[in-house]
Amino acid sequence: MVEIIEHARKIDKSDPLYKFRKQFYFGNDDVIYLDGNSLGRLPLESSKKIRQLTDVEWGERLIRSWNEGWYEMGETLGNKLAPLIGVSPGEVIFSESTSTNLFKLAWAALKKQEGRKRIVSDTLNFPTDLYILQGIIKQMNAGHELRLIESGDGIHPDINSLQELLTEDTALLVLSLVTFKGGFLYDMEAVNKLAHEKDILVLWDLSHATGAVEIALNDSKADLAVGCSYKYLNGGPGAPAFLFIRKDLQEELVNPIQGWFGDSAPFDFGLEYQASKGLKSFLVGSPPIISLSGIESGIDILLSAGMSQVRAKNKELTSFLLEASEQHLSFLDVEIASPRNPDHRGSHLSLRHPESWRICQALINPEKAKQVIIPDFRTPDNIRIGISSLYNSCEDLAVCILRIKEVIESKEFLRFPKEKPSVT
Ligand SMILES: *Cc1c(COP(=O)(O)O)cnc(C)c1O
Repeated sequence: MVEIIEHARKIDKSDPLYKFRKQFYFGNDDVIYLDGNSLGRLPLESSKKIRQLTDVEWGERLIRSWNEGWYEMGETLGNKLAPLIGVSPGEVIFSESTSTNLFKLAWAALKKQEGRKRIVSDTLNFPTDLYILQGIIKQMNAGHELRLIESGDGIHPDINSLQELLTEDTALLVLSLVTFKGGFLYDMEAVNKLAHEKDILVLWDLSHATGAVEIALNDSKADLAVGCSYKYLNGGPGAPAFLFIRKDLQEELVNPIQGWFGDSAPFDFGLEYQASKGLKSFLVGSPPIISLSGIESGIDILLSAGMSQVRAKNKELTSFLLEASEQHLSFLDVEIASPRNPDHRGSHLSLRHPESWRICQALINPEKAKQVIIPDFRTPDNIRIGISSLYNSCEDLAVCILRIKEVIESKEFLRFPKEKPSVT
């Protein structure tokens, strides 16, 4: 049994990114955190930045700070993020949540594509994306229909059905680059090509992909994208999301929410809205400055680690986890619920077991003197294990596997009720 731990330690020894752990807050406890794809760990530098923001910029400089960096903060951060997603400065900006950005971009795309009635997404997509689209269809009241690509195994989308659904009548295709449960990774370039053959716009949700996989929006001819910053970007709870619009589309698309931050001269306080040029027209109102200030350090760490190293490590670690699960857990009815090919998955891996909810409870709330392990549960039966190349080690995963084995074999999970609280 210790063999797997020894093997993992050997892998960690040659890990070029191991040193980046030190840039995150770990505190005194020795929690193994495997949920960085829901809420990334706190970069030490971010606490300093947020404290500087409250104590100095807000506390001392007060309203003068708007002209000392606050007003442009969403753009400045967007430009910093740009190389991580393969775009140029001026093509990505931080504002609002992923849901709100998706609403703005999907609405704008459908307006541009007026006359086409079909919107395509997949059954593996994150619910908010589907809810936003369903809502837009109701509010536009223009006869749109939402069609979903099916998935035979609940892990891989059916690519034949994708091809069939993309017709001359399709306006927009909305997909998550990495699906939130199984972690399937689409081939962005191939999908864009397929859609563009029929003049369909593609809107990518990069929430589970940014900071996890290499993304080349411009090289793969992407039109539109949104993504959140509190997962692999480690931006902090509820930190604002980003939106990308391809340069030549920026003047064509119209933001459906006309707020003063999208106006060309908000401080003229004119009575008629005049849209700003370019990406800025997709802003709405005053940005949450404190939250924005938590985003920069996480991006800095990823830039200095380099996305190719980050990606190489998470491929290796998800592969280790997959093989170790098969070796140590498959006889206990644990199944792999993610793609087997590392090129086709992101940085998290899902395991399936009928008692997943209570197993997760046992990992998070062990009896005393045992290691606390925090994975994620996704209904109905997924234990989702998120791996951050910046602060997770192979040993974390080996310990997690052995602990899941112990919990199932000892039936320790029976200590917990089957009912779930409101946030899981
Ligand atoms: C996490 C996530 C979101 C989050 O949306 P918010 O509006 O920022 O809460 C949206 N889409 C996907 C695919 C996600 O993984």
